[in-house]
Amino acid sequence: MYEKLKKIIKESNNIVFFGGAGVSTESNIPDFRSAKGLYAHSPEYLLSRTYFESNTEDFYKFYKENLIFKDAQPNDAHYALAKLEKMGKLKAVITQNIDGLHQKAGSRKVYELHGSVIRNYCMDCREYHDLDYITGFNEAVPRCRKCGGIVKPDVTLYEEMLDMEVFNGAIECISKADVLIVGGTSLIVYPAASLVDFYKGNKLILINKGATSYDSKASMVIDARIGEVLKEATREL
Ligand code: ZN
Repeated sequence: MYEKLKKIIKESNNIVFFGGAGVSTESNIPDFRSAKGLYAHSPEYLLSRTYFESNTEDFYKFYKENLIFKDAQPNDAHYALAKLEKMGKLKAVITQNIDGLHQKAGSRKVYELHGSVIRNYCMDCREYHDLDYITGFNEAVPRCRKCGGIVKPDVTLYEEMLDMEVFNGAIECISKADVLIVGGTSLIVYPAASLVDFYKGNKLILINKGATSYDSKASMVIDARIGEVLKEATREL
């Protein structure tokens, strides 16, 4: 299994990786959809634009409890991908995760489809604030250091549009890729599946614990942990 994947990686200088929540769960970041605790609404509603605007304090309570993991460290998957990029083999990482761990591992070209908890902007004057500012703020709702406006995470909330520049950049990478490795996603949630449709090559590799909706179209399906697979596949490169 690893030999075939190794060979494909060895022979290509135009690999694109597309990852989902499974990449982050191996860094002990739980999928927020499985948030534990007693909440009056679904996680999707608690992370909606409507809720952010109407219950900003409660939004931030849920957000900080379930989406911020300041101590999380990159895992083998993040490091293997950063290594492949440095070698000139990987063109880009496209991720649905918002934790910034790919960059922390050393990846440079990262398309964050849903934004990042690392970046936060004042809704009034657009002033940038880092994650420490949000978590260290002594009130529930972080306020801009410059103008006192409400600071919003640069994270795509439910009801919000994706950043089209990021989305189109991801489409372009996928449509030009020689090898597309998809990991840690069952490819059910929008826009994941629609992105894979832009791939024109014949080396689609799916690495996921459990079946995905694209298994029949893939040239390789690996039902295993993404970190372990990528670590093994890049070991002697
Ligand atoms: Zn401001």
